[in-house]
Parts: sequence; C-alpha cells; structure tokens
Amino acid sequence: MISVGIDIGSTATKAVVFDGEVRGHAMVPTGWDPREAGLRAFRESLAHAGLTEGKVEEVVGTGYGRISLPIFNRRVTEITCHARGAHHLHPDTRTVIDIGGQDSKLISLNPDGSVADFIMNDKCAAGTGRFLQAMAGILDVSLDELGDIANGAEPVSLSSMCTVFAESEVIGLLARGIGKGSLAAGIVNTIAQRIQGLAGRVPLVETITFTGGIAQNRSICMNIGTSLGVKLRVPASPQFVGALGAALIGTE
Ligand code: ADP
Repeated sequence: MISVGIDIGSTATKAVVFDGEVRGHAMVPTGWDPREAGLRAFRESLAHAGLTEGKVEEVVGTGYGRISLPIFNRRVTEITCHARGAHHLHPDTRTVIDIGGQDSKLISLNPDGSVADFIMNDKCAAGTGRFLQAMAGILDVSLDELGDIANGAEPVSLSSMCTVFAESEVIGLLARGIGKGSLAAGIVNTIAQRIQGLAGRVPLVETITFTGGIAQNRSICMNIGTSLGVKLRVPASPQFVGALGAALIGTE
C-alpha cells in the first residue's frame, strides 16, 4: 500500500512516499502559504517516486500546518510522528530530541516505540533553527560554516537566551574583538542549554535520536552532544523523520 506523509513545518514542508520502503521524498519552503507548500511537497514527492496521485491510498499530515490541507485522510501530532519515525529508523531509541525552525521538543519513548512523555518549547525562538539563522546572519556565515568554526573553539558564555537580546550581545562581543569561532561555539552551547532546560522534565535517556533541520549539521550535533554529555544518534535524513513517521502511520 502506498502512503504519503507530509510534515508542514514552520520553515520547511517535507513529504515522504512509503510502501514498505521510502519510494520518494520532497522538501519545499513553507513560506506564507502552508496549504500550497503541502500540495507542492505532495506532488514533488510523487514525481520523485514516479507515481501518480491515483495510486496513493493514505495521506497523513503532521506539523503546525497540518490543519490547512484538505487532502489529508488523517492528521497526527508531530510528537507521535517523530517518535514513530525515529523508532522505525533506530528501534532502540528511548529519547528524541527534535529541533525545528521555531520549536524544540524532547520526546520520551517506551521500548515499543510509543510516546511515554514529551515536552515542547514553542513559545519563543531561543535555541531553535530561527535563533541559529539569526546568529549565522550576524556572524556573516552560512549555517554549515557556523558549525565548522564552532568546532574546537573556546565557547564564549552568552547570557541572553532570547533571540533578540542575544543578537545585541553577539554584535557587542564582535565589536570587542571576540573571535567568530568562540561566538559560534557559544551560540551552539546556548542551544544545548535550552535542551538541558527541557531535560529537567523529560530525562535524556539513551539511545537518543536527534531529528529536525539542525541535526543535518554534523559539527553542531557533535558540539550539542558534548555540551549535554550524551551521545546523539543522527539518522541519514533527520529533517524527514516526522514525514516518515506520518507515512508509516498511514500504512498501519
Ligand atoms: P520545521 O519543521 O519547523 O520547518 P525543520 O525541522 O524542517 O523545521 O528545520 C528547519 C531548520 O533547520 C531551519 O530553521 C534551519 O535553521 C535549520 N537547518 C537547515 N539546514 C541546516 C544546516 N545545514 N545547519 C544547521 N541548521 C540547519
């Protein structure tokens, strides 16, 4: 049976076509029209799989924009989808760390892969992809470069968690001659501190699978793992784990 999972996130919309294995995928920017982004990702993922819409039996939506698309047979929270996707890729996963464009979450999994507990920060952009993008802009580096220059650098301590205040703080530190590497390492530490804060409610039990867009950046993953004192397992396509989970739920 062919199922398509579509994760309409705050920043990126991801689609996965699944029929026992992944047949196709697509990612488009969500932009200002989540409905249009969902449809585009759906069509592009089918084109990638070499399939037509008529062959699809289930379309499952997740992510913040899931309410906007009429083609969904089912809508499932991203908590359930990330847990399902992570458990499929790494069955020994007991905790999922997901950092997206505008939120971060910790999900605790039972050994059978069901959700035991979760905590989500979606009230402010601190420690999310948006925070990282703003900081990379100030340092005038790409997201990939930010991870690379943070590697091995002595992290500067940043007192501001809030994206707006952290921007002013980083600009001030740059003006005082603090190196970009130390600032980048400090920025990555701030993301780890944010996760540490969530871990007060949902403990970081290994094996920990790291999902979401930021997890694509190997240097940032390594630094976050070191700051948290844990090993992070990163799937091959971490940004697609929620969409994969939605597609898997469609086949059940
Ligand atoms: P959402 O589901 O909320 O749209 P995603 O999980 O798709 O979020 O992740 C989007 C975020 O991933 C972007 O905000 C961006 O900051 C981050 N991102 C994408 N590529 C990279 C990269 N190479 N390095 C670090 N962060 C990245």
